[in-house]
Amino acid sequence: MFSSPEPAGFLPLDQLHALVARLMQLGYQCLGPAVENDAIVMRELDAPDGLPRGLQAEQAPGRYRLTTDPQHRYFAWANGPQAIKPQAFAPQESLWRVERDAAGMLQFEAVVPNAPAQAIIGVRACDLAALALQDAHFLREGRRDPHYAKRREQLFLVAVQCAEPGATCFCASTGDGPTPTAGYDLALAELPDGFVAVSGSAKGAAVLSALNLSAANAQQVDAVRQQGQAAAAAQTRSLPGRTLRDALMSRLEHPRWDEVASRCLACGNCTAVCPTCFCHAEIDGPALDGEASRHERIWDSCFGESHGHLHGFNVRPDIRSRYRQWLTHKLATWHDQFGRSGCVGCGRCIAWCPVGIDLTEEVAALTGSGVSHE
Ligand code: SF4
Ligand code: SF4
Repeated sequence: MFSSPEPAGFLPLDQLHALVARLMQLGYQCLGPAVENDAIVMRELDAPDGLPRGLQAEQAPGRYRLTTDPQHRYFAWANGPQAIKPQAFAPQESLWRVERDAAGMLQFEAVVPNAPAQAIIGVRACDLAALALQDAHFLREGRRDPHYAKRREQLFLVAVQCAEPGATCFCASTGDGPTPTAGYDLALAELPDGFVAVSGSAKGAAVLSALNLSAANAQQVDAVRQQGQAAAAAQTRSLPGRTLRDALMSRLEHPRWDEVASRCLACGNCTAVCPTCFCHAEIDGPALDGEASRHERIWDSCFGESHGHLHGFNVRPDIRSRYRQWLTHKLATWHDQFGRSGCVGCGRCIAWCPVGIDLTEEVAALTGSGVSHE
């Protein structure tokens, strides 16, 4: 996060509300962590001082429990089930609608979302990396998705360094965390008495300059560096540091696919929480009187029966082939599409899998690479 050309500032702990107030003043709807259904999700803040403190989440395969941070920090929680994906790629939205006019002719009309300007406070490095992958898919040259683009350009991202990664996190091994390095407007690192803050965009620099912060001193900058190194060292899961494309694609008939299929419920939780998954279905919602219809895009999952359905047959009729599709797309053929793996090491698919399937263990079993969890 210190690759920013701007010098780092220091925001005292009791001035965090001034940052939120400034963003609100600029017209942003501010989203921050909130507890809902016993999990941390991103919700609109009612007031500048509405950010909660002291939240933590214990995570393990198939397990997520809220706990309390003894140091009463603002951002000691590792990521919740919800990344920032829904803010750019809506779970369900209308793409266009059609109506029959008075002359009986069909009139088509694009539906462009009325996306508010949103500032998201508490974005993690893994989620910034995931958003860059969503951008590569939805904003690619010549195929720019106007719905995604409209929401995406309205986002102001306030990233935070992860000081307490969850036991399911492995972003250090994928090179995507735990310290944000790109893709943010502002980045914060929480220390006992305040936040070291840097900007990553012109918008971010303008917000920081309005706060009139004093410069962070060398000890504070060094403490942030050490905190990032300690958070990376604390991660006990990993993916191999090499490209897994050939290793996985040469094992398409490995018996492990049957073994994992015997445990997998094909519930699709892993794809719903994964910040890089972008598969969707398109459905039509006709009005009962037959005079109008809306064409909708809705998140889909490669674990669903209908996802592999082609005209007359299903290319992935069983769970074995669906799990294999998920893992080989994410970790192997993604390299062909985007030049990197589709996994940013957030660990959500491990924590939110009801039977605790762990993709780092599956990769180790498939490729014979080591895996160690303390
Ligand atoms: S595959 Fe799992 S660990 Fe990797 S980005 Fe998706 S949810 Fe996170
Ligand atoms: S791997 Fe887990 S979360 Fe994913 S579909 Fe199978 S049971 Fe559900």
